[in-house]
Amino acid sequence: MVLGLLLARGGVETTVLEKHGDFLRDFRGDTVHPSTLNLLDELGLGEQFASLPPRWVERMSVQLDSGSYGFADMTRIPGPHKHLAMVPQWDFLDILAEAGRLEPNYSLIMEAEVTDLLTEGGRVVGVVYRRDGQAHELRAPLVVACDGRTSVVRERAGMRPRSFGVPMDVLWFRLPRHPGDPQGGIGRISSGTFLILIDRGDYFQVGTVIKKGSYDTLRNLGIESFRRGLARSLPWLEDRVGALSSFDDIRLLNVALSRLQCWYGDGVLCIGDAAHAMSPVGGVGINLAIQDAVAAARVLVPALRTGSVTRGTLRRIQRRRWLPTVVTQTVQRIAHRFVVAAQIDPGEVSPPSTTAPAAIRLLQQFPVLQGLPATFVGIGALPEHAPEFARR
Ligand SMILES: Cc1cc2nc3c(=O)[nH]c(=O)nc-3n(C[C@H](O)[C@H](O)[C@H](O)COP(=O)(O)OP(=O)(O)OC[C@H]3O[C@@H](n4cnc5c(N)ncnc54)[C@H](O)[C@@H]3O)c2cc1C
Repeated sequence: MVLGLLLARGGVETTVLEKHGDFLRDFRGDTVHPSTLNLLDELGLGEQFASLPPRWVERMSVQLDSGSYGFADMTRIPGPHKHLAMVPQWDFLDILAEAGRLEPNYSLIMEAEVTDLLTEGGRVVGVVYRRDGQAHELRAPLVVACDGRTSVVRERAGMRPRSFGVPMDVLWFRLPRHPGDPQGGIGRISSGTFLILIDRGDYFQVGTVIKKGSYDTLRNLGIESFRRGLARSLPWLEDRVGALSSFDDIRLLNVALSRLQCWYGDGVLCIGDAAHAMSPVGGVGINLAIQDAVAAARVLVPALRTGSVTRGTLRRIQRRRWLPTVVTQTVQRIAHRFVVAAQIDPGEVSPPSTTAPAAIRLLQQFPVLQGLPATFVGIGALPEHAPEFARR
């Protein structure tokens, strides 16, 4: 959506194909980060976004057995936006769709599922998509795969990402939220539990991390055992865990972390999760995908306008985004190994820990250091800014 808007503003005729009929999906988090808020300002969409109204999170803390600890202080981030905005992704995407509709070069086709690529002499020259039960063709000088971690475009182009082992999956469900409950994002880590609650007004979107492959064990233990586990880790949830009547109310999200060695081919480019699937750790995948889009637009607009998109053009985009991607994924992999893996076996019952890990203690001793995780999460390794042609 971001790339489509930027290309259209740069005078390039652009069609965005989205397989769903709307953006209303619970899947994925709701964080819009300071670097994206800066981008929205540059695109002239900041006021619209601020009117949603988002919930601001200035400090992120984690509740351990031994107490509650701050670990990221957004107010220490440079720039005008010193908070994360918690906004359902569909509201954010609707703003982008609305802005796109104002551009004469832009079209967004909903319920259009790309099923195949059109190729000529080994070069991708368009896509086949299904809409209203019929197959359609759309020809284009460039196809950009923004279709996520199970990308059909990537697969049809014969590109295979390298997968990195991930020790966890996520269970995703809703619990009612009552007046007076904590606001913003809440993290809870205790023996055998890793919980994240996202405040969505009258309910919490809850993610709980489980050991990869342990879902069947959990199901066999039964919903009552799962509800008891939740209430044990956050006792104030006890009065509402009954909202989960069975495992049908809970979705299993398969967490993947992968990366393409080469993000492009003749006539095709992958960005976002299609090029590098991100783990939910740090909640940075959306940010990274958006920054890929901005970097791609900057390079692509002049090339597409002069009809000169070559492999060299696409290589420049990958080069620009390679380092931030590798750095971010490496941090996620380290986090998987040292933080998450120790917490997530449903069968494991270890005694509560009475001390916080050394890194957390250091962050309490020197609060200024809380600006570092905040900057990693909020700004990322290489923030991108809107090119001149896209600014309003
Ligand atoms: C459990 C979980 C929680 C997460 N939480 C966060 C978080 O809080 N914050 C964060 O920043 N990141 C989070 N992430 C990571 C984040 O979701 C991704 O990194 C990010 O969504 C990638 O954006 P994208 O645009 O590349 O792909 P996606 O967001 O996956 O978007 C792909 C789009 O393409 C459409 N599509 C797919 N196939 C087709 C097709 N064949 N034809 C047409 N359209 C198609 C899809 O409907 C979708 O709209 C989380 C990931 C997981 C697994």
